Amino acid sequence: MSLDLTGDLVTLFRAVVDIESVSGGETRLADEVDTALRAFPHLRVIRDGDTVIASTHLGRAERVVIAGHLDTVPLAANLPSRQEGDLIYGRGTADMKGGVAVALACAAELGEPNRDVTWIFYDHEEVAAEENSLTRVSREHPEWLAGDFAVLMEPTGAKVEGGCQGTLRFTVTTTGVAAHSARAWLGHNAIHDAGELLTRLAGYEPRTVEVEGLTYREGMNAVAISGGIAGNVIPDACTLTVNFRFAPDRDEAEALAHCRELFEGHELTFIDFALGARPGLDRPIAQEFLTAVGGRARAKYGWTDVARFSALGVPAVNFGPADPGKAHADDECCPVADLHTCRDALLRWLR
Ligand SMILES: [Zn+2]
Repeated sequence: MSLDLTGDLVTLFRAVVDIESVSGGETRLADEVDTALRAFPHLRVIRDGDTVIASTHLGRAERVVIAGHLDTVPLAANLPSRQEGDLIYGRGTADMKGGVAVALACAAELGEPNRDVTWIFYDHEEVAAEENSLTRVSREHPEWLAGDFAVLMEPTGAKVEGGCQGTLRFTVTTTGVAAHSARAWLGHNAIHDAGELLTRLAGYEPRTVEVEGLTYREGMNAVAISGGIAGNVIPDACTLTVNFRFAPDRDEAEALAHCRELFEGHELTFIDFALGARPGLDRPIAQEFLTAVGGRARAKYGWTDVARFSALGVPAVNFGPADPGKAHADDECCPVADLHTCRDALLRWLR
């Protein structure tokens, strides 16, 4: 079955959903997307691994990048898709095959867009950042991602979400002295010492901060704790893993310093780091987008690939169908109305 980009949008959406594409298994869907897009002479199509990039070259004054990932998290017995009233259920319906279907339909329909458009369908988003194909493309072919403005079609309930928060993870370890628990006074319990770290976290008051008119709420949370080797041994180490989600007004140095300050007196080991993205809504092209799609922007809480575009100097927003709260859920779903809202908005903006 091949994808019909010019037919009914809901049929196209369900066809995209029903081609299973858990991260690492996107080839079949990428093949279908590739084949479908090549049927349109107004698009120049590049295939790089399982990433498909289709672009117009009309010599317009501005170029817009519209991107979506093809992969999903693993299934939870939630394929094939099914419809209940206005909702379509199934893995990937929220995150983010609605955005993919809308982008495909618009790529086909916009033969002469008022701005040149680069449509990007990429793989390996739901896994580690090094595996994300946008990491490879931005390193090897940054020119493919070039543009004046980018829209990432991650689920936002068809609202515009500007920028994104940064995220970092670190571990902090308390150390003690191992001993038989029957003679605990010969040792020192590292898990008990971790209590003081947890107290600091429990008392932490996260900031709520306004950046370019959008309100961001930060969070500093323990996400894992481990320690102890047996039921009769005083543990000599306890490791706490902490995730800090921070507003895009903090740079790397500031975010790291903030964590070190909170855990003063302890050594922190940073595991991963991803900078946030300023919303970039002060730019005229962003304002034109907002006017065309209608409504105001709100802050994005998760980390998304908008930060990657932002790092390349391309302001980016999230705008796509489905409630982001349903992403990765077993009852993942997308309202049919959101698909039409997003498609109509993009067509209004680019026609
Ligand atoms: Zn996603």
